Amino acid sequence: MRKQIAAANWKMNLTIQQGEQLIDDILAIPHDIKDNQEVIFAVPAPYLAMAQQKLRNKENVFVAAQNVYSKKSGAYTGEISVDMLSSLAVQYVVIGHSERREYFNESNAFLAEKVNICLDNNIHPIFCCGEALAIREAGTQNEFVASQLKESLYHLSADQIRRIVIAYEPIWAIGTGKTASSAQAQEMHAFIRTSLTDQYGANTANSISILYGGSVKAANAAEIFSQPDVDGGLVGGASLNAEEFASIINALQ
Ligand code: PEP
Repeated sequence: MRKQIAAANWKMNLTIQQGEQLIDDILAIPHDIKDNQEVIFAVPAPYLAMAQQKLRNKENVFVAAQNVYSKKSGAYTGEISVDMLSSLAVQYVVIGHSERREYFNESNAFLAEKVNICLDNNIHPIFCCGEALAIREAGTQNEFVASQLKESLYHLSADQIRRIVIAYEPIWAIGTGKTASSAQAQEMHAFIRTSLTDQYGANTANSISILYGGSVKAANAAEIFSQPDVDGGLVGGASLNAEEFASIINALQ
């Protein structure tokens, strides 16, 4: 049974004190994380140690970095290495978020390098893909997402890709309050799973969690997560509110 995941992406928000308070508030709200479920907090890099310290004894709760560099070490001022993450016992990292693709010019080929260094160092990428509005309006979203998967992931072996979480995040739905309908989400998730099946076979494809991201909130999470190929969500704005995010955790199926 593949994992159902609620992942919070704090982006570049909150002070460390606010972040600590938010984690405390979420943990204080009754929530039920079942055996096949995980909750992940992708926090800003300066807060990784704090979050790890607070969450390390919580079962099925993990900390993620929001970024990592493609090189092991060296003269790359300001970058974060896989060894730095491993030294904090961080097990997940968000890779290929549309904001990094857009503002930091991260290409599919560069993201493939990041995926490789993570897998070589036992860190699970949460690999984001998804199309802009113009592509959706042109009706070429499937081809676009297929090329993102092919160019960043399909050089991997089946054993490697099983260690990845995929997040489908249509750019037109991120931070806009405009959510893909559950049918639109299911349609793309099924397309991604079929593509994984063609490449790696059904066993591997069925073991990979595919999260939906794009204005997920307490009010729409259960409906979106009820779709057969949606295995949870990557949540930006609503993850900054304790009640909202706790409800999203409880909406996991
Ligand atoms: C995100 O940051 O990945 C995201 C989906 O943001 P939001 O939930 O705010 O749309």
